Amino acid sequence: MSKIEVHSLVGRGYSSNVFLVKAEDDFLIDAGLDISNEVIDTAEKSGLDVDRIILTHRHADHVGDAEVLSEELEAPLFAPEKEADALRGGDDRTIMGSNFGKKIPPLEVEDLEKNYSGFRIINTPGHTAGSICLYHPDEKILFSGDTVFSQGSVGRTDLPTGDREELKKSVKRLSELDVRSLYPGHMSPVENDGDHHIERALKHLRFL
Ligand SMILES: [Zn+2]
Repeated sequence: MSKIEVHSLVGRGYSSNVFLVKAEDDFLIDAGLDISNEVIDTAEKSGLDVDRIILTHRHADHVGDAEVLSEELEAPLFAPEKEADALRGGDDRTIMGSNFGKKIPPLEVEDLEKNYSGFRIINTPGHTAGSICLYHPDEKILFSGDTVFSQGSVGRTDLPTGDREELKKSVKRLSELDVRSLYPGHMSPVENDGDHHIERALKHLRFL
């Protein structure tokens, strides 16, 4: 039995997926957009005592509900170092709230450390300059943000701070991990064969 419990809220509308994780500490991966009621509801029903909210990258569909969730759940926000300044400054050009018809306020975010609650933070630039993934080596769980999705899909690299060559390197790095469960920022999570999905993504990228 896995010691880790993951409650997946698959994003509808423009929202990213949001994951509620019960590990050594309880925490959220990404905040989503217009999905906060569901997140709070799920946190209450599952008896989660959310310690923090971790943002995988700066995009509005992942951080839109960050402020309200941080307040409601009394949990501080954490973001990768290279994403944090944009979030603190409410940089609409790269956060792209306007593209979703939203004004994302400047967010008070703290810098992520290298390890948290049994997870390793892996820097995976490409979709944005500071995108990260979280990997649990014992449970073989990967939260992949918008770097790689299920079914061999990968994140866009044509948005501000995106870089296709960096994304290729990042997916290659992820393909070297032993991944059972893959929890991506969009599309369906997969509970088994995660590395098979990443391998497919890597093959696609070779032709780009
Ligand atoms: Zn994104």
